Amino acid sequence: MKAVRVKEYGGPEVMSYEDTDVPTIGSTDVLVKVEAAGINFIDTYQRSGLYQIPLPATLGLEAAGTVEEVGSEVTQFSKGDRVAYTSVAGAYAEYASVPEEKLVNIPDGVSFHEGAAAMLQGCTAHYLSQSTYPIKNGDSCLIHAAAGGVGLILIQMAKNAGAFVIGTVSTEEKAELARAAGADEVILYSEQDFEVEVKRITDGKGVNVVYDSVGKSTFDKSIDCLQRLGYMVLYGNASGPVTEFNPATLGPKGSLFLTRPTLFDYTADRKSLEWRSGDVFNWINEGKLKLRVEHFFPLSEAQEAHRSLEGRKTTGKIILTP
Ligand code: NDP
Repeated sequence: MKAVRVKEYGGPEVMSYEDTDVPTIGSTDVLVKVEAAGINFIDTYQRSGLYQIPLPATLGLEAAGTVEEVGSEVTQFSKGDRVAYTSVAGAYAEYASVPEEKLVNIPDGVSFHEGAAAMLQGCTAHYLSQSTYPIKNGDSCLIHAAAGGVGLILIQMAKNAGAFVIGTVSTEEKAELARAAGADEVILYSEQDFEVEVKRITDGKGVNVVYDSVGKSTFDKSIDCLQRLGYMVLYGNASGPVTEFNPATLGPKGSLFLTRPTLFDYTADRKSLEWRSGDVFNWINEGKLKLRVEHFFPLSEAQEAHRSLEGRKTTGKIILTP
């Protein structure tokens, strides 16, 4: 089969499209024929070495497809089922071996493309808005990179929960998308001081929660956008990691909370995975959530897909098709 492999850390050029063996499955695994592999920012961290993984490796942590074969102890899936998964390595390929416990069925009415987008970015937006800081009616929140894959989903979930949503984006085109997703206010943080703007918009009060996936370039000001007892949710490093922070500063700034959550911990057990993915699929089918799946690349063009994502040229979800 064809797969996108990495043998050393580096830029997009270290990814090679090559022939490799179809993965063998164990007794509790399922062989999935990949129809749509999701591209996520974390893939770039694993490729560059910011997040270290054992090499050589097939990249990709999310896909949707059909069941090709099941291990002898698999009980919940059979050949031909439409399925999706996340948090299992090896999705940039024609076939992937996935433990049964990580797989969910894709309901009728949800496409493979939506299925792939729902798992990593959808479940992330779900845990951020429902668990890390459960958004209440009347809350205010700041969402950075609001036109990105997670961003556009998070805006909709925050609005559905009754929040006032401020988004940040780098271009006017992205601002339009964030507004269309429901953002009440959008700040061009490439041109404006977003802290000043947030204070202006909230009459000096600040917001209850900041969802910050940009990291290095936004972290300090994000903290200063919070009101008393506010939540700083740092969940990504698109501009680089935050490496220095003094927790003592949280006190005088209003007894703030700081957390650095990961999807892995919020979907570690089967119940959480089924709850989050089930909500996301139901909301898609009920029309409460629209996934913007806009960028498609063939598997052979994974390098170009990463260049677009890291070059801030994409919005919403990026899909690789084998
Ligand atoms: P996005 O589609 O959001 O792409 C990243 C966006 O970040 C860009 O489009 C860009 O938007 C913005 N950005 C700001 N500064 C930079 C920079 N210097 N270089 C590149 N991009 C920049 O990606 P995803 O939806 O896949 O992921 C969003 C973030 O969420 C990532 O940081 C990812 O690691 C994190 N994440 C964390 C998870 C967790 O559980 N902790 C799970 C899933 C994702 P703009 O041009 O508008 O600034």
